[in-house]
Amino acid sequence: METISDYKNTKAVYLQSLGAAQTVTGSKHLLKTPGLNILIDCGLFQGIKSLRQKNWDKLPVDVASIDAMILTHAHLDHCGYIPLLIKNGYKGKIYMSPPTRDLTELILRDSAKLQEEDAEKANRHGYSKHHPALPLYTTADVENALPHFVTINTGKPYSLNTHISFQLYVAGHIPGACSVAISCYGKAIVFSGDIGRYHSELLPAPTHPAKADMVVMESTYGDRLHEKGDTMQQMAFMVNETIFNKGNIIIPCFAVGRAQDVMHILYKLKQQKLIPAAIPVFLDSPMASSASKVLLRYPEWITISQKECEQMFSGVTINQDYDGTERIIRQKGSKIILAASGMLTGGRVLEYLKHYIGDQRNTILIIGYQAEGTRGRALLNHAHEIKIHGLFLPVKAQVKEIGDLSAHADQAELMTWLKAFAPAPANVFLVHGEPGAQEVLRVKINSEMHLDACILKQDEAVWLFDVDEPASTSV
Ligand SMILES: [Zn+2]
Repeated sequence: METISDYKNTKAVYLQSLGAAQTVTGSKHLLKTPGLNILIDCGLFQGIKSLRQKNWDKLPVDVASIDAMILTHAHLDHCGYIPLLIKNGYKGKIYMSPPTRDLTELILRDSAKLQEEDAEKANRHGYSKHHPALPLYTTADVENALPHFVTINTGKPYSLNTHISFQLYVAGHIPGACSVAISCYGKAIVFSGDIGRYHSELLPAPTHPAKADMVVMESTYGDRLHEKGDTMQQMAFMVNETIFNKGNIIIPCFAVGRAQDVMHILYKLKQQKLIPAAIPVFLDSPMASSASKVLLRYPEWITISQKECEQMFSGVTINQDYDGTERIIRQKGSKIILAASGMLTGGRVLEYLKHYIGDQRNTILIIGYQAEGTRGRALLNHAHEIKIHGLFLPVKAQVKEIGDLSAHADQAELMTWLKAFAPAPANVFLVHGEPGAQEVLRVKINSEMHLDACILKQDEAVWLFDVDEPASTSV
């Protein structure tokens, strides 16, 4: 594998994906230019073990030669590797929107804490093959990363040197999420980040600049349309049915973004008396309360009023500590529990699953994308058992899905997003999708827009264009 320094003196711009290439996690896209090397996102691989193990591998590039990093949003598969990037020698700044800064700090602290706890538990119970089991990174590593964060607002370009500048555009998806338009030696290159929904309860529709020469876009739901239905009605039916059966409803979700969308729907259902006002709603996440405050701090990044936002939170009991989780489980009567992680890869939701998955009266409601190899995907694939903390548990609970609550654009929305560039970009590179979904989207783009979209491969550098101007290296 050639390292970045091999490219440093060439007069060309290259694109190299170090993650989220033919898979949906581990986003790390490197733009190599004669002057600067810019990393867009720096996420963790999640899901199947072979992917998660890649988090322990050294990056195939010289980290010290990366000059700048831009973060699109606070999801772990986009920001979760940052502490290791710093630990491995990255010295530059990390640019992001203000809500992303606040959320990323929470998420990285939570991630480090979970990894420390998991390593400690694995050592105590001996269910790891590694002796001793180690965390991927620690809270101290997160502390070292935070001083590199620099916040940038949308609406105006930010210059990195005489030839390169970038601008953030609201992408919907989760609060603070952005697409990045990089002006690079006269060409416009847009990195979509994760593209949100055009009709969200809580977030604005995705935006991007009118023109782009090249687009690097996500393709999570490249082969799928979200089921169109009345989300409110579907949710009401599912809640009432579970209450009738004297069961509990578990909704695995990221503590900010989708959790608030669901809370908003539940609040409206109670207001309209479509579900019993007395059914308790819990949001169980060590960072839920702080994440909710972030939402209130940036009203311009959400589409509901501050008052509505406060009302929505008032109907929910937020739990942060582990003892509280035990108390919620012991509490008699039906309840609705929202807990992370959204793909059931870790976090508090596993404690609830251990208690509730073996009882057919309970419902597990899946609302987000479930990557290959995650417990969430296994449940959607009707697995008869899942493994949690070394134990195989039979799946007896009802597993339901409301796709329209997903934070990701579906195929039609991805096409709307891409077709909004006028004229159409000369090159489209697909990232952040599993191979089947990417191939379907590639064919769709080809037949509807007569564009040859390219599916990026892990670590493979793609030549974008030659540059005539002399190099400049100041950041
Ligand atoms: Zn995301």
